[in-house]
Formats: sequence, structure tokens, C-alpha cells
Amino acid sequence: MLSMSDGFDQTDSSAAGERNHMDEHPQNAWNTVQYDARFDEYWIKAGDARQSLFYCPWCGEKLPPTQRDRWFDEVEALGLDPWNDEVPDRFRSAAWRRAIRPIG
Ligand SMILES: [Zn+2]
Repeated sequence: MLSMSDGFDQTDSSAAGERNHMDEHPQNAWNTVQYDARFDEYWIKAGDARQSLFYCPWCGEKLPPTQRDRWFDEVEALGLDPWNDEVPDRFRSAAWRRAIRPIG
């Protein structure tokens, strides 16, 4: 099971059945590019950090803008501390983005 103690970098996008751009690329079968469904963010490991990608390394397509800031805003709007509190299940996948009306 996912919990914050597993490490903030860990996410299980496959369990949620989320399709993402990397599904189009068999070159990514080794998960060179990781997908974080929470933030709609693509990244590669860079030492102990993660480097977000803005363009797909396989085809050069522009990737969607990260929703990381919105994720933090929404979690904090619930009165939760994203780093220390358990976040609701929908914030562990892309579900939270579908639950919130688009801005504007
Ligand atoms: Zn691509």
C-alpha cells in the first residue's frame, strides 16, 4: 500500500490505470522516463533528485505543464500539510484533477 512513509518520490500510476504519453513509446519499457500521475509530470532520475522533463526525449513533443503547484495548493486548501499529513486517495493519482473544475 502507498503511504507517505514509502517516500514522497514514490507513486503508483499504473495501479490507477492512468494512460500517459509514455504509453506511446515502447522505448520507455525500462521506465527511463517516470510519470507522476499526481502532478501530470514526467521526470528522470538525476542522482538523488528528479529532473522534470518539458519535452518528450523520444519524440520531442512538448509535454503538458506540471500540475505540482496546483496539487500543493489543493492539498493545503484542505488544511493538510502535504509533507506530513495523509492526503486523500484522490491526491495519490490523477483523480484530484478530474474532481476539480478547470480554472476559468
Ligand atoms: Zn513522445
